[in-house]
Amino acid sequence: MASRRQSLGLAAAGLAGGLLALRQGRGLILPSATAAAKPIELLLPGALTQGGWLRGRTTGQALSLDGRPVALADDGMFLIAFDRDARPAALLTAQLETGGTAELPLTVAPRAWQIENVNIARRGGGPTDDFMAIRAPELARIAAARALQTGAQGWRQKFMWPAKGRISGKFGSQRVYRGEPGAYHSGLDIATGASGTPYVAPADGVVILAAERPFTLEGNLLMLDHGMGLNSAFLHSSQLLVKEGDVVWQGQVIARIGMTGRATGPHLHWSMKWGDARLDPLLFTGPMV
Ligand SMILES: [Zn+2]
Repeated sequence: MASRRQSLGLAAAGLAGGLLALRQGRGLILPSATAAAKPIELLLPGALTQGGWLRGRTTGQALSLDGRPVALADDGMFLIAFDRDARPAALLTAQLETGGTAELPLTVAPRAWQIENVNIARRGGGPTDDFMAIRAPELARIAAARALQTGAQGWRQKFMWPAKGRISGKFGSQRVYRGEPGAYHSGLDIATGASGTPYVAPADGVVILAAERPFTLEGNLLMLDHGMGLNSAFLHSSQLLVKEGDVVWQGQVIARIGMTGRATGPHLHWSMKWGDARLDPLLFTGPMV
């Protein structure tokens, strides 16, 4: 056991070097095909940063991230991701067939979020009872949708942009009202300049929520499960072209951009979550080209 831990320590040190290379744009050096399978192996692409994600493979029978179980595919592949406010240290632990464990410490790089200080008071007062009477069932439906496990395989894919246009809002950006932080922006906003622009599924998925009528904030909300706890939500659509339970393929037109719900102009708000972690869609697609 001691020697195993020692060798994993070396593997982790190698990983740190690889990540340095990643930041410098040289990419991780992957082990050669002839090398013995490591208990936990991280694979590109992905990013060990707040709001980012990584795919990997394990020879273990079970895997956990900071003590919470991580879903494993039949081939040992897995996805892990890091919340916008994730702490810098994380630990992957694999339960091995031999009965032992293998650990891989991870360093999650912080991001410089766009913070805007404004000299106005934060809007006071909580939600009214009337609002919550409508809102509570909407939130319950969103939570129920996120709890569904569909077996979708989109998590294995390189994501594509659902639509191309101007990025009118970045993930993670936040306003601070006279020193009091407001909620950060939970998604990425894409504006094409008009309502009605079709948008596509960024990866394979299953429709887990398709609003029949507009939600108070999200408007015509559409949600896709991509498998392994990863899901997308698309807000403010003018029209949904799929229904709950539909299997959709990457690139398939699923809805049209709009400004239903709380929106000041037509745009697509795309947010992604892995479990409770809020993620930056930009780190799934790469830059818009
Ligand atoms: Zn938005």
